[in-house]
Amino acid sequence: MKTLTVPPAAKSIKISNPNSKQKPVATAIVHRKSMGAPSAAPRMMKAAFVTEFGKPLTIGELPVPQPKDGEVLIKIEACGVCHTDVHAADGDWPVKPRPPFVPGHEGIGRVIGMGRGVKEVKEGDLVGVPWLFEACGHCDYCLTSRETMCESAVYGGYTANGGFAEYCAAPAAYVARIPVGLDAIAAGPIICAGVTTYKGIKMADCRPDQWFVVSGVGGLGHLAIQYAKAMGLRVVAVDVADDKLELARRLGASVTFNAKTVDVVKAVQDTIGGAHGVLITAVSKIAFAQGTGMLRRGGTCVLNGLPPGDFPLSIFDVVFRCLTVRGSLVGTRSDMKEALAFAAEGKVKANIELSTLENVNEVLERLRTGKVNGRVVLKIA
Ligand code: NAD
Ligand code: ZN
Ligand code: ZN
Repeated sequence: MKTLTVPPAAKSIKISNPNSKQKPVATAIVHRKSMGAPSAAPRMMKAAFVTEFGKPLTIGELPVPQPKDGEVLIKIEACGVCHTDVHAADGDWPVKPRPPFVPGHEGIGRVIGMGRGVKEVKEGDLVGVPWLFEACGHCDYCLTSRETMCESAVYGGYTANGGFAEYCAAPAAYVARIPVGLDAIAAGPIICAGVTTYKGIKMADCRPDQWFVVSGVGGLGHLAIQYAKAMGLRVVAVDVADDKLELARRLGASVTFNAKTVDVVKAVQDTIGGAHGVLITAVSKIAFAQGTGMLRRGGTCVLNGLPPGDFPLSIFDVVFRCLTVRGSLVGTRSDMKEALAFAAEGKVKANIELSTLENVNEVLERLRTGKVNGRVVLKIA
């Protein structure tokens, strides 16, 4: 087990989390060579990073990060590209990361070094660097199994440098531990798209054999269909692209609707009498406006997608039909373990297209225009 030291000349820039209550969260990128280097890693690494919102990511060289106490250094093998990376690169959300930063929160690789005091993992373990990069561990949320709500949480690939790089340093207590049966490529999409939709489905409080609508069959949605099926639900899939609906049917959706050509609210009510649960993963405000309309009385609409903006909600409809609308952000470490177990047992498998770090800008552009069917995973090593 190697203890890595910070090279003396590796000047670091702190990225402060936009939430002023938060501590500085990440050691950012520096554009000059560091003098020292950890024994198990080279001094410099290839990475894709945001320097300005709305501009293509820069593909260049950065110093290999140094694991602090409690952190591991991971040699990234693969990293999935989530639509959140588009929002991050475009500065879409009210709470913004501060460039320069390295996106990517589906990065998987092996532990090759560590700072002092790491007990959770050992060298050689396959781990993932998730969106929930770190939480405080002692606030009300953290203490009540709701750590994704922690106000001091740090976000991988957003307020801490993420997986679009050959190496990443991350807190050992929060890395995803990849079970036997999953390789780095297969595990990538599970640690964000998978855990997010798995948790989202749980938040809908549905029981086996009930009807569940997945709106948006992208990276998140195509995994949501599989989790919902594995959890015994009957699935209706909604998207605006026929190739995605074809994938949805292949993955077990019983009914599919193209929201471009049919009134999906009417179609869902007419066909199944309304759904018990709805999960919105679409990157479209219209899809959010349609969410509660697809529910039957007493149903729950869970919001996973994060397009910027708002949507109309009928007070009468929510009250009179006793509906629940709830937001859901990724999942806890316990949700992560469960979501990964489904994948390791072969019950859930991402539809993966491989690409490279050099092509990340093309992948982000295809996500912006809805041209990714499943998930693109960057093969990094
Ligand atoms: P994606 O681009 O892979 O998929 C989005 C899908 O929405 C596409 O298939 C697209 O065709 C579909 N779509 C567009 N308009 C639609 C409409 N009107 N009706 C139905 N479908 C429509 O994106 P992704 O990686 O799956 O991410 C989806 C969203 O989820 C993003 O906003 C992302 O930031 C967010 N996200 C949230 C969490 C969370 O914790 N809540 C986690 C990960 C991602
Ligand atoms: Zn994501
Ligand atoms: Zn906390």
